[in-house]
Amino acid sequence: MADLFVSDVHLDAGTPAASAQFLDFLSEKAARAERLYILGDLFEAWIGDDDPDEHKARVCEGLKALSRCGVACFVLHGNRDFLLGEGFTARTGALVLPDPVIADFAGEPVLLTHGDILCVDDHAYQELRSIVRAPKWQQRFLALPVEDRSALADQVRAGSRAHVSRQVPYVMDTNPAAVEAAFRATGVRRIIHGHTHRPAIHETVIDGEPVTRIVLGAWYEQGSYLHHEAGRFELRELPR
Ligand code: MN
Repeated sequence: MADLFVSDVHLDAGTPAASAQFLDFLSEKAARAERLYILGDLFEAWIGDDDPDEHKARVCEGLKALSRCGVACFVLHGNRDFLLGEGFTARTGALVLPDPVIADFAGEPVLLTHGDILCVDDHAYQELRSIVRAPKWQQRFLALPVEDRSALADQVRAGSRAHVSRQVPYVMDTNPAAVEAAFRATGVRRIIHGHTHRPAIHETVIDGEPVTRIVLGAWYEQGSYLHHEAGRFELRELPR
């Protein structure tokens, strides 16, 4: 049976076509898989597990139906939905894994990460990340009324769009030295990540060993996933 990987679906109420396609993906392709890994940014924003948004609730129900069928569902935090917590797991049956994490595929250890930690050239983003990932900051944020959290999340997204539009492309991509360091530090020969929205399979050699970095695609214009079976990994597109 297959393992499927997606990331950067970026679902919210403003993406009805992507949402419909993702729910179809869950009930069709993912329902026939053994495991589904969502490597971050499933949602455009997640302001807490008590988020009352009906649109997100439908996505959670789709995941719950999938995990009830016996498909193991795993989620990593993205930079948009890093507040997914135990309440989300209770709503969906999807287990939130640490980022990065090493998982076994056909006997091969593979490093899974959202990928933002590899984008170290974006100093402003890394500074923001270190603030909002601190447990104290998250406790204070989650204690705010849901309307206030929603308004703050809208402000952060507007700031993020302005920041991204000002950057030269390489700043928004992974840093080659950070990628090499991740291979060396973990000893894996395959890394799978999303975040950069540049789907590709990069093959290179580090310290004489062939290594592969697989980048997942975003779901803005079409669907996209990685299919794994018996040691073979293949990026697949889902035209919309
Ligand atoms: Mn991201």
